[in-house]
Amino acid sequence: MTFLAQGEGGTEQQVRVTAVSGDEITVDANHPMAGMTLHFEVDIVDVREGTEQEIEHGHVHQHGADH
Ligand SMILES: [Zn+2]
Repeated sequence: MTFLAQGEGGTEQQVRVTAVSGDEITVDANHPMAGMTLHFEVDIVDVREGTEQEIEHGHVHQHGADH
């Protein structure tokens, strides 16, 4: 059985009941795809140089994000 649990921040997360014992339940809150091997087929549509800040940070900044 799966259901949605809501955290304090309002984010919903799918959890799965893995065991029921009396009035206690055990849930697995891992993402449903956790542990699976995923294969993606992608097309590269554009390549650009990294910005100085991206190179410094070692990751991509999207939508002008500065983090
Ligand atoms: Zn950054």
